[in-house]
Amino acid sequence: MPRPQRPAIDLVVTSSERLSPGMIRLRFAAADPAAFADAFSDSVFTDRYVKLVLADADADGMPAVRTYTALEPDLERGTLAIDFVVHGTEGIAGPWAAAAAPGDTLSVRGPGGAYAPDLTADWYLLAGDESGLPAIRAALAALPADARGYVVVELPHLDNVQPLPAPPGVAITWVVTADDADQLVAAVRALPWLSGRVQAFVHGEAEAVMHGIRPYLLREREVPRADASISGYWRKGRTEETFREWKAELAAVEGAA
Ligand SMILES: Cc1cc2nc3c(=O)[nH]c(=O)nc-3n(C[C@H](O)[C@H](O)[C@H](O)COP(=O)(O)OP(=O)(O)OC[C@H]3O[C@@H](n4cnc5c(N)ncnc54)[C@H](O)[C@@H]3O)c2cc1C
Repeated sequence: MPRPQRPAIDLVVTSSERLSPGMIRLRFAAADPAAFADAFSDSVFTDRYVKLVLADADADGMPAVRTYTALEPDLERGTLAIDFVVHGTEGIAGPWAAAAAPGDTLSVRGPGGAYAPDLTADWYLLAGDESGLPAIRAALAALPADARGYVVVELPHLDNVQPLPAPPGVAITWVVTADDADQLVAAVRALPWLSGRVQAFVHGEAEAVMHGIRPYLLREREVPRADASISGYWRKGRTEETFREWKAELAAVEGAA
């Protein structure tokens, strides 16, 4: 039976903060803190996400749905934060976030999620671009102080580097996007492979993640699927709607293979 859809949660923007030239953090308070606490009380995943329901001027009154990582949900205060990539004037959620001000409202559904650090792993590999950085930030906050491993984050410019608290044994590499090569894939491949069982979390632009890093980890390094959370968060040249079609086509091809 399909799971009944959770009721929408109405949020009000309480602050907007520029984290870097490429990212904005909005903080929200729930209009109904009890409903918020109810929805988030069983959310145990560090990659927990919500579906933003936004007005879409191009879709005859139909709302657009966009997926974002929900950070620091506070059940008592009914608050959360979302870090938005500001990727120009194209799209709906990015431009909405860039213009949002305290008092603006937003309706979300969720949360969903699938990953949390497995504390029995020997080491961790967390990689992505700016869209995956919020979920990487949340995963790092859940790691024990003696955790070992790597974080690799691709950015459009070195000015976009942000403070990223991590255990001392987790090395952080920032790579800058170049037009002629996929820097994220190259940087992950260049990491010295550690001994023991790795748990991987890799999310960002879909081509790089699904066709670059996933085969490297699953086939070349033989990381078991159960130890790998890997998916595209967006796709170059596609809106979230047409990206969903791309994902469905990829799943159909892989299912037939
Ligand atoms: C589980 C999950 C969690 C996510 N968490 C976050 C998060 O915390 N923060 C975040 O910023 N994103 C996150 N994303 C990615 C976000 O959902 C997409 O980037 C989404 O497409 C943005 O919607 P939009 O309306 O701004 O652009 P769309 O209307 O979807 O796309 C318009 C154009 O912008 C391009 N575009 C979309 N996203 C980006 C980008 N990041 N960089 C450059 N160009 C882009 C598209 O290719 C398209 O050409 C997450 C995605 C998933 C699946």
